[in-house]
Amino acid sequence: MKKIEHIGIAVNDIENSNKLFHALFNAPPYKQEVVVSENVITSFFACGENKIELLQGTSPESAISKFIEKRGEGIHHIAFAVDDIVAEIKRLKSEGFELIHHEPKAGADNKIIAFLHPISTNGVLIELCQDKPE
Ligand code: ZN
Repeated sequence: MKKIEHIGIAVNDIENSNKLFHALFNAPPYKQEVVVSENVITSFFACGENKIELLQGTSPESAISKFIEKRGEGIHHIAFAVDDIVAEIKRLKSEGFELIHHEPKAGADNKIIAFLHPISTNGVLIELCQDKPE
């Protein structure tokens, strides 16, 4: 793993949170994107070299909506950049980590992603992400 790629924050109302984070960073989101397959709306803020992803569920079935129902708004996941997500999934499995996704899938912000199950990572939801191959 190379570095923290972004931190994901689950929010109830992304329009309100966009205003809040715009004021916090003194800059608007550089990208907003609906990820239909995940039932989420996302927006991305840059803070220096770091990124913050806000996520709002678009249906009660969304993992984000379920997370907020259980735990309230707040930090949802930490994403780490990797060069070769397939190799990293294989390596982590062999180390005994539980994966939610055994194959990479399309994520927001031109990434392919996979999540580790928080049961094997001290309750922290971890996302692996790799730039989408050209
Ligand atoms: Zn993310």
